[in-house]
Amino acid sequence: MPWFKRADKGIQTPTDQKKETPDGLWYKCPNCKTVTSMAEHRKNLSTCVQCDHHDRIGSKEYFAILFDDNDFTELDANLTSGDPLNFVDTKAYPQRIASTQKATGLKDAVRSAYGKINGQSITIACMDFAFIGGSMGSVVGEKIARAIDHARKTRTPFLMISKSGGARMMEAGFSLMQMAKTSAKLALLSEEKLPYISLLTDPTTGGVTASYAMLGDFNISEPGALIGFAGPRVIKETIGKDLPKGFQSAEFVLEHGFLDFIVDRKQLKNKLSELLSMVLLQEDITTAPKVKKVSKAS
Ligand SMILES: [Zn+2]
Repeated sequence: MPWFKRADKGIQTPTDQKKETPDGLWYKCPNCKTVTSMAEHRKNLSTCVQCDHHDRIGSKEYFAILFDDNDFTELDANLTSGDPLNFVDTKAYPQRIASTQKATGLKDAVRSAYGKINGQSITIACMDFAFIGGSMGSVVGEKIARAIDHARKTRTPFLMISKSGGARMMEAGFSLMQMAKTSAKLALLSEEKLPYISLLTDPTTGGVTASYAMLGDFNISEPGALIGFAGPRVIKETIGKDLPKGFQSAEFVLEHGFLDFIVDRKQLKNKLSELLSMVLLQEDITTAPKVKKVSKAS
């Protein structure tokens, strides 16, 4: 026998009179459907308390997690994209940039900064998926190149946090050039014996995977992240075969030798500084290296 019985049948409430839970108070895990308060979810660094599903977060959150006391200095904060190709799809590219900037509060799909991580100086560039799918255009490439230059100038390790759908179509060839540019800068970083850690987060695909994301001295990832070059559908159609289970997940990629390790976001900061202290112990990087000078043929 129920406590309450609905006497009248077919009671209808107009939508505007329905009492809704205010948005943003609760978080429902897309993986295990566990519901937690948003405050609890944030405290857990946007990972599920039940199944450890890692939610996508942006540069603001990663900087807060990694930099000591969230204290950092941003580099090239006001660099924004031009429209070299006069590109128009459903709207003109400059309009798309302006509306995305307004919606996200970001200038482009990457932010770079320097500060300290457990007392160790570091330069970090972190991509934002919210900005046109974390697409790599000329601003992304230029900011990463400049961040690497900053790491070289200040002799600090460089951390790249990738999260991208690939190259930005609206800049076509200009986007693809960024792959070569960032790779060349990373080669200089390597020549000067400065450590480069690449953290691949969900998702890291396309031209980003094919350039700086896979060039780390250490390539690491968060659990469950999608990592690949082309999407599963394209590959399936190309090879005409079903893809193995777990294909393109961080765990699959680790098993096949493309990653060094997977790290839980809650251990990320300590694991990174542990790794850096081990690498830096080997060599005092704060002093200039003995780079072989190429002497001109006389
Ligand atoms: Zn969950």
